[in-house]
Amino acid sequence: MFDSLSDRLTGALKDLRGKGRLSDADIDRTAREIRLALLEADVSLPVVRAFIARIKERAKGAEVSQALNPAQQVVKIVNEELVGILGGETRRVQFAKNPPTVIMLAGLQGAGKTTLAGKLGHWLKQQGHTPLLVACDLQRPGAVSQLQIVGERAGVPVFAPDPGTSIGQTGDLGTVSHGDPVAVARAGVAEARDHHYDVVVIDTAGRLGIDEELMGQASDIREATQPDEVLFVVDAMIGQDAVATAEAFQSGVGFTGVVLTKLDGDARGGAALSVREVTGQPIMFASSGEKLEDFDVFHPDRMASRILGMGDVLSLIEQAEQHWDAQQAEAAAQKISQGELTLEDFLEQMQMLRRMGPIGNILGMLPGANQMKDALSQVDDKQLDRVQAIIRGMTPAERDNPKIINASRRLRIANGSGVTVSEVNQLVDRFFEARKMMAQMSGRMGLGGGSRKTN
Ligand code: GDP
Repeated sequence: MFDSLSDRLTGALKDLRGKGRLSDADIDRTAREIRLALLEADVSLPVVRAFIARIKERAKGAEVSQALNPAQQVVKIVNEELVGILGGETRRVQFAKNPPTVIMLAGLQGAGKTTLAGKLGHWLKQQGHTPLLVACDLQRPGAVSQLQIVGERAGVPVFAPDPGTSIGQTGDLGTVSHGDPVAVARAGVAEARDHHYDVVVIDTAGRLGIDEELMGQASDIREATQPDEVLFVVDAMIGQDAVATAEAFQSGVGFTGVVLTKLDGDARGGAALSVREVTGQPIMFASSGEKLEDFDVFHPDRMASRILGMGDVLSLIEQAEQHWDAQQAEAAAQKISQGELTLEDFLEQMQMLRRMGPIGNILGMLPGANQMKDALSQVDDKQLDRVQAIIRGMTPAERDNPKIINASRRLRIANGSGVTVSEVNQLVDRFFEARKMMAQMSGRMGLGGGSRKTN
């Protein structure tokens, strides 16, 4: 995601390092490189112009800091301005005081609305909500059943018209015909109200291009359901076109937030960096894959530091908080400092780490990860699977004290876990080395709990 932009920006800023003072010429040169990097990433020209003007003004201005050297100051300014164009504060969903909260999705066909509906449903459920998905894309063949499939995967019910019949909502609602998306939307909201679903996600039809009928239908659904949020869903890979599409949807339907999809693709980042500035509406979510989990709230500050190669440390911390067992980690830290870590502890730590997601993703969030891309791509989950299998093949006593594992046991463990004896040997040797090193390091850094000396 944003790899080439990130590389260019980091490169532009790296040249400033080590300079005691920055001349205006230095700043101009850096600004020029940043400008090229942004244009290459497909950021829209007016946004680039405004961005560069602000950077130059601030970098040349009197923002003198004692704490930072000149290069760090420029990085700080670029970071702050990036956060600014990405929207500043994280914008959260506005939930209605009187449920159900209605969230309507709008965007071109193929933008990822139906996929997003499933992801949103999954995410809302995780947050303790009881969502209902409503299938109002009655145009694209298969869209209704696609929503039913993603709904099932997410464990979220879907309200949809029965194909070929009316959906048969009677009473106050009257009968809703199969072909009328506005009526389906209205009936879906009523269904949520009657059955105490607290959030309704309405999937609407898109077209390959912008057209009046599409806009008319989306506005009618908006009018009929009075959504609390209208999310404009846009494929980040369409680059410059994202801006024109966003503008058309804003004037045709209006929206309260943006969702960027397909950030996992070869996106150059232009959409992310332009849409907010051009429409004034915040990016609220980012989608980065086809799986339900490839989705998150959009945090401008984290995205900016990611683009600048500072790593997404905050996201990592948040994920760690979700999956980390603090007591277990503290107990392990104690043992590390005393050189008493066992393979059993190591296995537990590794399992905790892996609950946070694929190892490459986790490592990719670390600062400097951008520069270590090649090395990181070598770290794979399969390798870790093998390590876990080897440890699992050991008896508790062996995990406690791997020294007791003799040659015949090593062979048994290797056979049992489908690896070679030399892999078992390597693991045991490395474990001893690592344990020694970690104990030394934590001693030096004063880790491992206990009271610290203050003298
Ligand atoms: P809709 O027409 O707006 O409802 O779009 P769909 O939800 O059907 O998505 C269009 C295609 O894009 C499908 O093949 C999805 O699997 C794919 N897709 C959606 N979101 C993402 C994403 O974040 N990353 C990737 N790689 N593919 C996505």
